[in-house]
Amino acid sequence: MSVSNRQIVDHWAQHASGVAVDWDQAHERCWRCGYRAELEKCPIVPESLGGTDTVDNLVLLCGRCGREAPVHQDPGYLWRWLRATSVSSHDTYWTLRGWEEFEVIFGRKPLECFKEAEVDHRSLNAECRALAADEFAKTVIHFGEGRLNPSTIACVIAEIEKKLADRHGITLP
Ligand SMILES: [Zn+2]
Repeated sequence: MSVSNRQIVDHWAQHASGVAVDWDQAHERCWRCGYRAELEKCPIVPESLGGTDTVDNLVLLCGRCGREAPVHQDPGYLWRWLRATSVSSHDTYWTLRGWEEFEVIFGRKPLECFKEAEVDHRSLNAECRALAADEFAKTVIHFGEGRLNPSTIACVIAEIEKKLADRHGITLP
């Protein structure tokens, strides 16, 4: 007997709140990052710790979020993690994670050095978006992931920043 994604959504629409997506999109968008993705049935309590293969023990997550989910015999932790780390605005979560990863790798915030320079903020944003398309073409999405991982996004941000710095005569640290 296997449970369908739809049955899982129908069950939790009655019993839970605070996930990233509205229930009418919960069969096609990850409940944590909010991206449209191939969803996996993720056990709240894993089978090896007594969890069952029933709707009340399953949530729908993309592969990456599933791998980051807590694996614990207390179901409360998965819900706490899901509510604390999910974002309600669609299609921004992994970009924000890339932004954070940039800070970890480079020890500063992206585009920080442009603040003091006399560069118009809005035109800088437009330049970033224009460069992003080219830069993303240089990357490869890990097989089966569907999205770039945060460290690759951080590299893309670094490349964009380098180009903008050249263009505006700014020296990066
Ligand atoms: Zn996800």
